[in-house]
Amino acid sequence: MCRWRQVRNVYLKCSHSQNLPDQLNQCDSPRCKFSPYHPSSCQPPACTKTCIQYRGYPEQYSPNIDGLCPACLDSAKRH
Ligand SMILES: [Zn+2]
Ligand SMILES: [Zn+2]
Ligand SMILES: [Zn+2]
Repeated sequence: MCRWRQVRNVYLKCSHSQNLPDQLNQCDSPRCKFSPYHPSSCQPPACTKTCIQYRGYPEQYSPNIDGLCPACLDSAKRH
């Protein structure tokens, strides 16, 4: 099932975090309406009976980055 992935980078050196644009994490199921493997010939009303019509709950992803956030990096460069 396809779901959005909400990415939030956490920068360990300044303890700031930054939200990135949501990414669509696509699955490979032909039975999911949002999948790239879903056949374009599969259309409602048949599709609504055979295929998943909704996306999964968004996934939260917060990688820890051992460094400064872009804003702090920028001001560090200027000083
Ligand atoms: Zn899917
Ligand atoms: Zn379908
Ligand atoms: Zn910072």
